[in-house]
Amino acid sequence: MDVRPILRTKRDGGELSEGQIRDFMAAYTAGDVPDYQASALLMAIFVHGMAGAELVAWTRAMLESGVRLAFDGVDLPKADKHSTGGVGDKVSIPLAPAVAACGVAVPMISGRGLGHTGGTLDKLEAIPGFRTDLSTTEFRAELERTGVALGGQTAELVPADRKLYALRDVTGLVESLPLIASSILSKKLAEGIDALVLDVKFGSGAFLVDVDRGEELARTMIELAAGFGLRASALHTAMDRPLGRTMGNALEIAESLECLRGGGPADLRALVCACGGAMLADAGVVADAAEGERRVARALDDGSGLERFRAVVAGQGGDPRVVDDPGLLDAAPDREVFAAPADGHLAYADVRALGWAVVALGGGREQLQDAIDPAVGLVALRAAGEEVRRGEPLFEIHHRAGRGLERARELLAGAVRVGPPFEPAPLVRARFGA
Ligand code: URA
Repeated sequence: MDVRPILRTKRDGGELSEGQIRDFMAAYTAGDVPDYQASALLMAIFVHGMAGAELVAWTRAMLESGVRLAFDGVDLPKADKHSTGGVGDKVSIPLAPAVAACGVAVPMISGRGLGHTGGTLDKLEAIPGFRTDLSTTEFRAELERTGVALGGQTAELVPADRKLYALRDVTGLVESLPLIASSILSKKLAEGIDALVLDVKFGSGAFLVDVDRGEELARTMIELAAGFGLRASALHTAMDRPLGRTMGNALEIAESLECLRGGGPADLRALVCACGGAMLADAGVVADAAEGERRVARALDDGSGLERFRAVVAGQGGDPRVVDDPGLLDAAPDREVFAAPADGHLAYADVRALGWAVVALGGGREQLQDAIDPAVGLVALRAAGEEVRRGEPLFEIHHRAGRGLERARELLAGAVRVGPPFEPAPLVRARFGA
């Protein structure tokens, strides 16, 4: 294939035709277009953006590069949630079983940690034995049995995204609205769902720090989903502080279990209810999101979400005893306290640094092939905006024999600011769509 006419069109800010996009995607996925030409096209898209019809055609071509899942054996409406990623964001773990307990099936394809953010798959694998590498047949069987399947992207699902994402990662082309929107939506459309809720983060722990860019991404994805007949809504939520109190894989599973018992930090519960309420409303099982929120809250309080999670853990090979005894999760042997550097109110200058501290301790990957230590991480002992005194413990660092400890201390020192009183931004800044 001669890609040069396509490159010239996009280089000069023109619009690609559906045929050009389809031909490029098919040839690139088949290995018939070299990465240097694909990189040039991605760079031109990064610079000039994409028109609405072009973005729909690009997303469709990505989707058609692989298989689309269909769950004819599941008689319930199907919904999923996608977060653009943050620090301490374990929402999917209590959310999926709680929503399933309310009568909506959740076929959830999640990712691993990316950069400073943790990944749902890594968190789930902190449960001894838990398998996320389900085949399509196993995924379908779990969804039929429990109403929840928690898996990762397989080789057949949107292979174009695997290649394009890896290329963007090493060419500085991740932060492009059309490329992010098409990457996320193509994978979600392949899940065969009826409704999608997007949790778009803003603030220093998010990939798109800027509020306006986050809002534009939310609107772009909702419009794009509508182009495929998928009902989508978005919550624009604060990531200018960590979510919940724990950061690190096993610690986040323990906190998710608290949430599934009706407890845990108020912000985590609020976001699980907000996302779940929108999922139930968009899937058509409740009149509106407010009623959906009440239903999800009930599933957290009456134990039905927890029971569903127990079935999911057992079905996916995990040790279900963990559900009642989080003490069976791997715990770091060593602890150190990080103290407040001054008197004042706790604020965050850089939430991303908290995520990097978890990575430094061994809880995330610095290289693709790195093994993760599920036990290490951070526990925030005080919430953003609270008054603290110099020397008072702010964080508990869970480490293994000092690995990465010095670096984690430095990162924490850069992450927190203790200063004048302030009102933390609302957790949910805005809601869009459906
Ligand atoms: N997550 C994705 O799946 N794709 C992107 O491009 C960015 C975040």
